[in-house]
Amino acid sequence: MDTLFDKIIKREIPAKIIYEDDQVIAFHDIAPQAPVHFLVVPKKGIRTLADLTEDDKGLAGHILFTAQRLALELGCEEGFRVVMNCNELGGQTVYHIHMHVLGQRQMHWPPG
Ligand code: 5GP
Repeated sequence: MDTLFDKIIKREIPAKIIYEDDQVIAFHDIAPQAPVHFLVVPKKGIRTLADLTEDDKGLAGHILFTAQRLALELGCEEGFRVVMNCNELGGQTVYHIHMHVLGQRQMHWPPG
């Protein structure tokens, strides 16, 4: 069954899309937690980070590199944070892996 993010990829649900290529799509989060908050989502519907396989290592690098490049393009050269929530305890709510990129405010640790 299609995930929410599959529906965004297929343009069945609107989103503010920033970038797309054959492997990933990036769009602004609907409930931003920072002035810049977007998601980098692989088109391959992997459920959680725990389901990543050896075959996905290239894709994982591409997600991270896309996150970095778009963060810099969107004005986060002073710093930004990337987050991947994994499963229930990790705070995941959409079961289609995605990298959050947050920037343009001071981040704190621990994240809570
Ligand atoms: P998670 O909690 O799984 O790490 O992150 C899911 C993220 O998806 C949340 O930050 C949430 O705000 C975002 N989100 C949920 N539904 C939508 C939607 O329909 N459109 C967009 N752009 N973001 C969404």
